[in-house]
Amino acid sequence: MTLPFDNSYTRLPDRIFVRQNPVPVRAPGLIAVNRSLAERLGIDADWLGSPEGVSVLAGNAVPEGAEPIAQAYAGHQFGGWVPQLGDGRAILLGEVVTPDGARYDLQLKGAGQTPFSRRGDGRAWIGPVLREYIVSEAMAALGVPTTRALAAVTTGETVYREAPFPGAVLARVAASHIRVGTFQFIAARKDTEALKALTDHVIARHYPGVDGPMGLLEAVIAAQARLVAKWMSLGFIHGVMNTDNMAISGETIDYGPCAFMDFYHPNTVFSSIDQHGRYAYSNQPQIAVWNLAQLASAFLPLMGEEAPAIEAATAALHRFGDLFEAEWLARFRAKIGLATEEEGDGALIETLLSRMALQRADFTRTFRGLLDGTAREEFEEPEAFDAWERDWKARVAREKDPKATIRSANPALIPRNHRVEEAIQAALGGDYAPFHRLNAALARPYADDPAHADLRLSPRPEEEVRRTFCGT
Ligand code: AMP
Ligand code: MG
Repeated sequence: MTLPFDNSYTRLPDRIFVRQNPVPVRAPGLIAVNRSLAERLGIDADWLGSPEGVSVLAGNAVPEGAEPIAQAYAGHQFGGWVPQLGDGRAILLGEVVTPDGARYDLQLKGAGQTPFSRRGDGRAWIGPVLREYIVSEAMAALGVPTTRALAAVTTGETVYREAPFPGAVLARVAASHIRVGTFQFIAARKDTEALKALTDHVIARHYPGVDGPMGLLEAVIAAQARLVAKWMSLGFIHGVMNTDNMAISGETIDYGPCAFMDFYHPNTVFSSIDQHGRYAYSNQPQIAVWNLAQLASAFLPLMGEEAPAIEAATAALHRFGDLFEAEWLARFRAKIGLATEEEGDGALIETLLSRMALQRADFTRTFRGLLDGTAREEFEEPEAFDAWERDWKARVAREKDPKATIRSANPALIPRNHRVEEAIQAALGGDYAPFHRLNAALARPYADDPAHADLRLSPRPEEEVRRTFCGT
């Protein structure tokens, strides 16, 4: 089996990556192969699950055509500038070109130390690997741009964190792994030649036809406005929106302490390291703009650094608000069954959300519950819902098929934290059945399958997961 590699990133200036093979592991073992994704990529899923495929997935064999590298990047972490980050536990094997001509990065996460590992071991344990597998695949099924999980393997080695854990490697597929921080890395070194080369590369690869760095900035701003609006409409909290975790392609990337909210509150934070709530649910749009402003600064050397360039970049950043608001409103209109637009729709949505926040209503169940009249059960005091419902019924009376709109905008199933945690705990005991069941169910998140009724429930108080960890 030869994989259809064509590695355009390695043809860029070699200051922005380091050639580095994965470090072999003791005893590779297959956890899962994503068959439909493998097929899309033109990779034989049976081969991928064979001993030969598993040894590639574990980093024990480098397939023909691969040119393994660790990518350099910088970034702002929680607002603080870090000039040198980079792939510390991930190896990019190369880019696979699919039968229909699309190009995807194939990366192994947890593949051993690189020159960017600092004090890290370059490894991952099954917890974060399964978490990223489940959540990234759920996001894809929910229609959110995202990196994907092609496969997961165990390493037969022990990884030491708070305790010893079984090691694992995730094979991740992405439109690319180029980050806001990749541009920041180059700009900070005043390497205009590399900056120009990466800009041209990104335009050709992700935004063909846009006009220069200014056009690219506008395109990335629009892509991020769409992306964050989708997150908001699903109750998704990324958790660590550092500039090194924001992909230029507009895909969701780096699933660490991310989580879907159970009970709605705009200030919700899960990440144990986010002590001040910088990356709280409702802060995500502002943080996206903040990150995009860092991208704009990185582009300035290519745009002349004069007042007109700065003004144009500032104007582009200011448009994020309008773009985001429009996307947000479109998504939340659909969530309450509105396919047409009326003046008071925004206020109607805000009223529902503020009552949900006061009443600890389950975000996913409340909206989906508009289909069958069960939404009111999510409120501690259902009368708070009834008052809103009267206004809402008057409004949806002017819609043709509100149920179809609600059904397509509100999933029945999301990867709830306590279910993800349960799947990880079972896997630690050697039982991968809950992991496989959760994945299979989440492949059709908008379906009403009675077999998955238990996965739709909110956590009971003793099940609720309130803290998530960065997952290295
Ligand atoms: P993150 O915020 O989890 O994406 O990681 C931030 C930085 O730490 C990145 O440069 C990672 O490559 C690096 N890093 C995280 N975990 C490890 C690890 N186990 N070994 C080496 N580097 C790591
Ligand atoms: Mg990261």
